[in-house]
Amino acid sequence: MSEDKKYDAIVIGAGVGGLAVATLLAKEGWKVLVIEQQDRPGGRAISMSGSEISDKGLEWYKKMLASQYTYIANSQPDMETVINRRMLDGYTLDIGYHAISANGAGYMLDFEDLIDGLPDVKKHGAFYGNYFQGKLYHDVAGTKIDPELKRIGKETGIRFLSYYSDAYGLSDEDIAKMEKVSFKKWADDKGISKNDILFNHLHCVSTLFSTINDPNDISMGDIFHYFKHAFGPKLMRGVLGYVGGFVENGTGEWSRSVVRKMQGYGGEILYNAKVKNILVEGSRVAGVRVETSEGEKHYAAAKVISNVPAQFTFQLIDPKYFPADWVRKTENMYGYGSYAPYMGLNKLVMPEEEAKMGLKNTCLVPKSEGFDYDVYICWNIQSAVDPSVAPPGKHLYTAYIPLNENEARNKVLVNKVVQRLPEFMEELYPGFKESIDWKLDLVCWKLEGVAKSISQAGSQKVPVKSQYVEGLYFAGDTAKGYGVAMDCAIVSGMICASEITGKDFVK
Ligand SMILES: Cc1cc2nc3c(=O)[nH]c(=O)nc-3n(C[C@H](O)[C@H](O)[C@H](O)COP(=O)(O)OP(=O)(O)OC[C@H]3O[C@@H](n4cnc5c(N)ncnc54)[C@H](O)[C@@H]3O)c2cc1C
Repeated sequence: MSEDKKYDAIVIGAGVGGLAVATLLAKEGWKVLVIEQQDRPGGRAISMSGSEISDKGLEWYKKMLASQYTYIANSQPDMETVINRRMLDGYTLDIGYHAISANGAGYMLDFEDLIDGLPDVKKHGAFYGNYFQGKLYHDVAGTKIDPELKRIGKETGIRFLSYYSDAYGLSDEDIAKMEKVSFKKWADDKGISKNDILFNHLHCVSTLFSTINDPNDISMGDIFHYFKHAFGPKLMRGVLGYVGGFVENGTGEWSRSVVRKMQGYGGEILYNAKVKNILVEGSRVAGVRVETSEGEKHYAAAKVISNVPAQFTFQLIDPKYFPADWVRKTENMYGYGSYAPYMGLNKLVMPEEEAKMGLKNTCLVPKSEGFDYDVYICWNIQSAVDPSVAPPGKHLYTAYIPLNENEARNKVLVNKVVQRLPEFMEELYPGFKESIDWKLDLVCWKLEGVAKSISQAGSQKVPVKSQYVEGLYFAGDTAKGYGVAMDCAIVSGMICASEITGKDFVK
């Protein structure tokens, strides 16, 4: 065993939440070490090139996916053929669908401002919309509103736009009280549920933000907090123009760029190193015990920040340091998963405008097939927005189809959505099935670490500072944070860095 090397703070995990806190601490002059089990940063927002998958093979790919709670449910053709024929070469794949909220103008931009920007990261914005009864409605983007929705609102007298504007007139205390109010209850109270088109439109947006299919479980307080604090200031700055977008060359580029920034501030990162234990002396953290290819190592620090999903905390630190009911509650916090397929297409059979959009539909497969609620879908032709992710002349289709954790682990239910997807796309765009060169049916059972449901959202999540072990902190999408998944993880890193330094990074 090697000698202890000392740091001011150690971050376990190079997910976007861990990187956010590490970079802010390094910028403040702290001696920081990030320890990551994988060979690259990004965690669930990792990227890899198709040729890397072809070179390293199926077992490597499966292990990489498994480390981020994801498995291959099916493929077309079979995976051996996909790999042996190098069908993924020229594509860039994330773990699954990875759009950035508001094309990075939410908390991601707040963080980037704090570290003086990431000039080497390029983002490509996309407009979003939803299909309802065969008609396409556009999402509100910045100040742009679909004229048809506006007309319906005017004719019916239903103030559906209050979804987008109410948050700005509410105090933070009032918004916190709404954490336990569902989107459905809120929409009922506003009379919005009386109109199918308006309700469906807002339901689509709410699931996009929360990853939860059931409108009775989506926390309205979480959405309002996100609107008020992540979007409000950007509306004033005039930088909020898109609902979503993609990081050029895959979402992992963002994390790679943040690592370079952190290293520029003097921070260090250790890859291929798995933390086995958080070391505690008395009731204070003392450092970590790490497994590396060179054997076991100890690193000392008075502050340790866990970026590992909070449910797995007790694999790293003995539960005896915490009250039993806190351990039980934390272990039982539930996330949300997703069927997140990729398809390589040889032609586009939809109108160009629709190929460039994120398109949502509240019912890919109905609840009656055995699901908790109707299964929603949002799909994009990612390469129509960012051509860098597909080879010339080819196209990359990606979709996000929320499933709760149990559904995502249930092979029978997963098979139903896998079988349904090509049929659904064919019904929308005849000729779609013929355009498929290959299809990878990835399923993640923890897209969202803690679902932003009425029983778990916002202040109900794990606090960034442990009340029970001195020097222990949490950052990531399972710790206190708000809004869309990556943004939620990033802002939790900002909240955590504020708590550690006493400097307010989340003004
Ligand atoms: C299929 C899929 C689709 C998604 N789509 C979107 C989307 O469209 N938009 C969006 O905003 N978000 C999306 N997300 C969610 C988003 O990726 C996550 O919310 C976010 O990346 C979580 O970041 P984090 O920092 O909380 O944790 P993680 O990314 O889980 O980071 C934790 C890190 O810790 C490392 N680690 C774990 N244990 C150890 C250990 N013992 N020692 C060392 N290292 C360890 C892991 O390897 C990982 O790098 C998606 C996720 C998935 C899986």
